[in-house]
Amino acid sequence: MNLVFLGPPGAGKGTQAEVVCKHFDLKHISTGDLLREVVKNKSLMGEKVKEFMDKGLLVPDEIVVQIVSEEIKKNRKGFVLDGFPRNLAQAEFLNNSLSSLNICLDRVLNFVTSPEKIIERLSGRRICPKCQAIYHIKNMPPLKEGICDKCGSSLLQRDDDKEETIRERLKVYTQLSQPLIEYYRKKGILVDVNGDLEVQVLFEVIKGILQS
Ligand code: AMP
Repeated sequence: MNLVFLGPPGAGKGTQAEVVCKHFDLKHISTGDLLREVVKNKSLMGEKVKEFMDKGLLVPDEIVVQIVSEEIKKNRKGFVLDGFPRNLAQAEFLNNSLSSLNICLDRVLNFVTSPEKIIERLSGRRICPKCQAIYHIKNMPPLKEGICDKCGSSLLQRDDDKEETIRERLKVYTQLSQPLIEYYRKKGILVDVNGDLEVQVLFEVIKGILQS
C-alpha cells in the first residue's frame, strides 16, 4: 500500500503516519525529517536548505525531488509520504517516477483542520532530535518532562515551530494546496479526514478507509 498524507503543518500527518506505518508495516517518508537530516550535516547544501526552512518557505523542488526519489527507489515495502508533494510540480514528478517503477498510489488522505488547532498543536510540539518521536506538552507529554520515552534524549522545539514561522508556513501551504487537492480529487483517490480528532479516534477512521 502506497499513501500520501496531505495537509497543513500541524494537522497531525506525522503522528498518524507513525501509527499507520507501524500497523500496516509501511515506510514513513517525511520530507521534513529528511531535510532536517540534511541540515544537521552542515554541508553547503545543508546551509542552503536551512535558510528556506527557518523562514517557513519551501525548499527548492530540485533538492526535495532528489531526496524523495532516492527514498522511493530503495524502499522495498509500501510507504506513507508525509509532507510531499507540496505543489503541483512535485505531484507531477511523483506521478512520473512511480509510473516508471510500476508503482501505484492507492490513497491520498487530506487532513482538514482549523488554524487555531494548528497553532495550539505546533507551539506545544516537542520532538526528539535522535529518534524523531513527536510529543505535545499538553496532549501527548512524555513520561518524564523534556525526555524522550523511546531513547532518553532531551526533547527540542523545532526552530520553525515558533508562532511567526508557523503563520508563514500556513500561508505557503494555503497558497499551494488547493490545486494539489484538486489534482488528486480528479484522480479519484483523495479522501478528506478530520485532523481535529484525537489521535486514536482518527487512526480508527483511517484504518476503516484503508481497509475498505
Ligand atoms: P514539515 O516537517 O513537513 O512541516 O516540513 C518542514 C519544512 O521543510 C517546511 O516548512 C519546508 O521548508 C521543508 N519541506 C518539507 N517538505 C517539503 C517539500 N515537499 N517541498 C519543499 N519543502 C519542504
